[in-house]
Amino acid sequence: MSSSPYIVGNWKMNGTRAMLAEARAINRVAGRYAGVQVALAPPFTLIQAMADEAQAIGVGGQDCHWQAKGAHTGDISATMLADCGADFVIVGHSERRKDHGESDAMVKAKAEAALAAGLGVIVCVGETLEERDAGQAEAIVAGQVDNSLPSLEAIATVADGRISVAYEPVWAIGTGRVAEVADVISMHKAIRERVVAAYGDRAPGVRILYGGSVNAENASSLLAADGVGGALVGGASLTAESFAAIIAAAGVAEG
Ligand code: PEP
Repeated sequence: MSSSPYIVGNWKMNGTRAMLAEARAINRVAGRYAGVQVALAPPFTLIQAMADEAQAIGVGGQDCHWQAKGAHTGDISATMLADCGADFVIVGHSERRKDHGESDAMVKAKAEAALAAGLGVIVCVGETLEERDAGQAEAIVAGQVDNSLPSLEAIATVADGRISVAYEPVWAIGTGRVAEVADVISMHKAIRERVVAAYGDRAPGVRILYGGSVNAENASSLLAADGVGGALVGGASLTAESFAAIIAAAGVAEG
């Protein structure tokens, strides 16, 4: 299994060029934690400048189209992301699934397009509060994993560590309400089982991240939880100060 924790900030629709100063500061912090893989997914408009200026971190998109080019006004392809310096992309975030009606099949097609373009990919899954309250959380998430991950054929030539699944309970995103560590452990175990079913001996190369109100206070216990290979962080990735505390919880500073 890829052993270095993967700490990814999702800036969502936040950030103009003035915020590149935060990215530069996060880049300096990341440079001191060689054992932690740090990345940011800014809005499309900042990817190229951030990739040029912040070389100790990965820089990625928050979505891509499943086709490489064509008549899709307003969309960006994985090829275009790679061309402007991105090295990964998040697909299937719950805000995309909800706001843009993205199905598992669309998410899978996006993930496969990302890999074909040479990008790493983070595939997001997670249940709503209604689904959890109805006792369906594991079944819903298992179905999303089964139907949203790229096929075994699509990962054949992809290096270990380039595919991650982010478990993000919808009710924990941006709410300040974090999942119980025991629930995170059992869901990560269930996701791992589905990844093994899909990928067999390639499964250890897939990291499973937790996302949903991760912050400086709860990061240590979440990152230490069995099966958690890192974190996808929204609000707390917007400033170097708050994101640095999460990076610090994932590793040991050098120098
Ligand atoms: C996210 O958007 O992926 C996320 C986890 O957000 P937050 O950390 O703000 O809950």
